[in-house]
Amino acid sequence: MENHTVEMIRHSLHVLEHELTFLPDLFGESRKKAFNSLLAILTTPNHVNKAYLRIPLERGDVIRVPAFRVQHNNVMGPYKGGIRFHQRVDEDEIVNLAILMTLKTALHNVPFGGGKGGVVVDPHSFTKQERYMICKKYVQYFSRVLSPTEDIPGPDVGTGAQEMDWMMGEYKNINPGKEYLGSFTGKSVENGGSLGREKATGKGVYFSLKYLLTDFVSKDMPSESVHKYSKTLLATKEQQLSIGIQGFGNVGSVVAMEAYDCKNIDNKVTVVSDRNVTLYHEEGLQIPALQKFAQWNKGDLPKTEEELREAGVEAKILERDAIFSQSVDVLFLAALSNQVNETNMTEIEAKIIVEGANAPISKKADDYFNEKGVIIIPDILANAGGAIVSYFEWLQGRDTRFLSEQKIYDDLYDKMLRTFQAVYPEVFNGEHSFRDTCYIYSIMKISMILFRLGKLYG
Ligand code: NAD
Repeated sequence: MENHTVEMIRHSLHVLEHELTFLPDLFGESRKKAFNSLLAILTTPNHVNKAYLRIPLERGDVIRVPAFRVQHNNVMGPYKGGIRFHQRVDEDEIVNLAILMTLKTALHNVPFGGGKGGVVVDPHSFTKQERYMICKKYVQYFSRVLSPTEDIPGPDVGTGAQEMDWMMGEYKNINPGKEYLGSFTGKSVENGGSLGREKATGKGVYFSLKYLLTDFVSKDMPSESVHKYSKTLLATKEQQLSIGIQGFGNVGSVVAMEAYDCKNIDNKVTVVSDRNVTLYHEEGLQIPALQKFAQWNKGDLPKTEEELREAGVEAKILERDAIFSQSVDVLFLAALSNQVNETNMTEIEAKIIVEGANAPISKKADDYFNEKGVIIIPDILANAGGAIVSYFEWLQGRDTRFLSEQKIYDDLYDKMLRTFQAVYPEVFNGEHSFRDTCYIYSIMKISMILFRLGKLYG
């Protein structure tokens, strides 16, 4: 499998192999072999578990649906990663997302590995009872590989707290008397979920920008930095920033509210989009009203003049992909993978792009933006809030002491800040892109552990 993630891993390993102060005990032929081993280990999953779930439908027949649980790497801890219900789920995509989880948890020092699950279904075309059956069957078919100490799934696109509750319930049925609160994360608060989990990713995504534009630029940016990113960053100082957000779901709508409420940065959200429309207002959109409307309308933004009036929002309605051609200073991508690519990259004028979604930018587009000096805060850095608070949920499930929402956010910011303080100065001092730096940093950690465990040589 060759894709952006695999290419990035290959490139990062190439850099590290020639950085002789890293793993200095390895030299000559043995260094070469160790780095070949690392490439093999990091670019292939430990296990691809596949099943065809047998689902009885309410109309009376039984169907089979393909389902996956990919376990990429567990050297840092139990496999961790969401379960996606989507009609376009395929094995390569799930493997790629599992690899990104391994890199994300390592980057932020979360003691989990990387995994991912998926079921090839459109959840909207099933009844509630049938979705309940899909969840139960998923756990039954993969029960041998799931446990609070082996592999801990959470929600992803098409799943949420309800699905996690159902899955944990089935896990409990199959494993009577065993610890079960840590078997799934993203559960409802009533069933042992963590306060703050729902907003964690969006809050973390916005925090990755806020830290860059405030603390980092005023205190932590190397003063001698002549990096192309420094020029980009300084150009955003002391001016009002316009913000665009693609996707207005769990991640995008929280990012929008964070920007709207932020007192430390002078910014206004001028464009938002979802699966139907782009909405634009030069003076800034009424985000609380949009969020309220979406809450009562299956997550969708207003898409007609009538719906705009109903929401009490003034905006221009544009076609869905018009978001890319609107002039904004900062663009958040919080919808799906591969949204920015060769077909639209040249339309985008943003100086900073923040990846709320996983892998929203293609390799070609990534190269194009890097060439232009556009700052891209990458997925594994920016959108780890959900993974981090899932770890807090797992810990809370172990000792059944539950923390306040504010304490969760404080701990989340603290954890992300440690990563930012390690990574951001490297980016602004070094010759690598933001994404390269994050990959290198994460792969260094995993490689060091593998080396010390004696797993890199025969
Ligand atoms: P969601 O289903 O709640 O929201 C997705 C949003 O994207 C919706 O507003 C939808 O209308 C919009 N959308 C769909 N297709 C679109 C298109 N073609 N153009 C514009 N908008 C479109 O999902 P979410 O939980 O907000 O996740 C968004 C992305 O972030 C996903 O890629 C997910 O994998 C990633 N992510 C989510 C979390 C989390 O904790 N929720 C954590 C890490 C990464």
